[in-house]
Amino acid sequence: MNGYDHSFRSSTDLDRAVALLRQIPPDPDDLPETLPEMGVGENRTLDLLAPHVLGGAAKLDASDAFAHMDPPTPWITWAMALWNARLNQNLLHQETAPFATEAEQRVIRWLTPFFGMGGGHMCSGSTISNLTALWAARDAGRVRRVIASKSAHLSIRKAALILGLPYEEIATNKHQQLDPKHLGNLTDACLVLTAGTTTTGMIDPLELAGRAAWTHIDAAWGGPLRLSPTYSHLLNGIEAADSVTISAHKWLFQPKDSALILFRNPEYVTPAISLSSGYLAEPNIGLQGSRGAAAIPLLATLIAWGRRGMVERIDRAMMLANHFAEKIADDEHFELWGMPRTGVTLFKPTLGTTQDFYASLPSGILSTCTVQGAHWLRSVAANPLADIDKILLAVRAVNFSHSS
Ligand SMILES: *Cc1c(COP(=O)(O)O)cnc(C)c1O
Repeated sequence: MNGYDHSFRSSTDLDRAVALLRQIPPDPDDLPETLPEMGVGENRTLDLLAPHVLGGAAKLDASDAFAHMDPPTPWITWAMALWNARLNQNLLHQETAPFATEAEQRVIRWLTPFFGMGGGHMCSGSTISNLTALWAARDAGRVRRVIASKSAHLSIRKAALILGLPYEEIATNKHQQLDPKHLGNLTDACLVLTAGTTTTGMIDPLELAGRAAWTHIDAAWGGPLRLSPTYSHLLNGIEAADSVTISAHKWLFQPKDSALILFRNPEYVTPAISLSSGYLAEPNIGLQGSRGAAAIPLLATLIAWGRRGMVERIDRAMMLANHFAEKIADDEHFELWGMPRTGVTLFKPTLGTTQDFYASLPSGILSTCTVQGAHWLRSVAANPLADIDKILLAVRAVNFSHSS
């Protein structure tokens, strides 16, 4: 597969229309300052909002977008999102979402075997998935504390705080992975391991899964690698976890809000995270009440692409990251933090500061991060449409102007 991928470009004129509308500069003064008393009607609203919503959006699918965990979305998901909005199904009840409920169960059934899990449900993001997992750990796993590394996502600390569980942060080794030598007794603990940390993309030693009262693996970013025969081994050990989080709106190319929480033993966990009420025909599982049919775009993508099509895009993104890192490593103007593990590449200029360098870059090409007090440039391979040569050209243009 080359850089051009028809799945991310509508076969209709919709994509061309969006591209054209994006070029209209928004007029900052044409939106009502206060809640309008009288509406202007739908057609006028489309004209009014197109330059703002489309023109004012970050171009996450551009060929030089390589900065964030937000992928371009395949056009089949645009159609499904439109159907979803039209039908407004509510996953709270089977009655208010008959096919959508079945679709979610089907997608869960298709994906759980890659992670050794037995079931689960969808959430509107991995922050919610992680909170759900820690809730299950507390009430089904009877854990009394949460242990995670310094590199864990802030949503883990947030979940511990909300659940009133003490949170212990374990030091990392020089590769930013949880260092097992700092682990004590785990018999009353929920151990959280990260498969693809947000800052550096590193993977904690997943062979620790199963050693604690409960093991949760936050695979929000790296999880989809499990579908790839080339990279699946990076996540070996995940099948011994009690729960796994995956963001479908990251490396499964889904529109927001789409994530999964999976459990190894759902029969045992589900009652602990379900509540009944007089107005409900069935208990409400998990944190969210009303929620939309995020499973429909995911189901459509998996049917349209198959596992292979999904993996081609993920593998391509990994290849782009590795290629980018090799070029950076060979360039005397830059210091590479280390070879990427899950498509996240960190580097910095050898001359001048990372902040000055970043300020001179066009926005969306790279992001920045801090690792042990040092500032780094960060690139994330969420975009299989990225053109590495174009990105290198932009990055080198800054460097040469700085050092001359
Ligand atoms: C992105 C991310 C999260 C949070 O996911 P959201 O979907 O943004 O709520 C949690 N953990 C890790 C490792 C992540 O990369």
